[in-house]
Amino acid sequence: MNTTLHLTAVEHRVDSASRQRRFGHDGAVIWLTGLSASGKSTLAMRLEEQLLSQGYACYVLDGDNIRHGLNANLGFSPEDRTENIRRVGEVAALFADAGMVCIVALISPYIADRAQARAAAARNRLPFHEVYVATDLATCETRDPKGLYRKARAGELRGFTGIDAPYEAPEAAELQIDTQLENVDASLSKLRGYVTRHCPLL
Ligand code: ADP
Repeated sequence: MNTTLHLTAVEHRVDSASRQRRFGHDGAVIWLTGLSASGKSTLAMRLEEQLLSQGYACYVLDGDNIRHGLNANLGFSPEDRTENIRRVGEVAALFADAGMVCIVALISPYIADRAQARAAAARNRLPFHEVYVATDLATCETRDPKGLYRKARAGELRGFTGIDAPYEAPEAAELQIDTQLENVDASLSKLRGYVTRHCPLL
């Protein structure tokens, strides 16, 4: 039985203009994609800290954190990765609909899954900005802050993105950050500049 046939959407009594007045900016999704160790979490958490101190209402949905709760029942098969991204895409759209700048840090290796996340935002006419943290595999492997590449190379971790699972790079990301060429502060400054230009405070 398709239960959605019996559901009726309920209208909010608060509109997006009221939320915008309350928070001082529009809601949006900032979606960071890239290989493990490319710098997504580092940049997302620092961006959140800086935006918050500037007066933004914002929150980071980080892939590893979400897998401890909402997505604790999902693994790393292609199907589970797709479901992982579908859920985060829907939650990010809800945060943005609530009026917040929602920063997502998720490998999200498949183009189709990221397109679905973009579509979840578009359904509510919410801006979605894809940021490609374009650090090359060799740099990520040298950094290896969690020792995961070493484990994947040793065969202790299967289906690791970039080693024995694919990463489909964005073809038209709104922003690309090549972190191998610069330090964290320089990358963050580009990211923050982009976000404050595209999600300006009123
Ligand atoms: P991810 O979330 O993509 O798996 P992390 O943020 O956990 O990656 O790790 C990235 C590592 O790369 C960190 O140790 C960070 O300090 C380092 N790093 C070096 N240069 C940069 C940069 N320009 N931007 C972001 N991280 C960088």
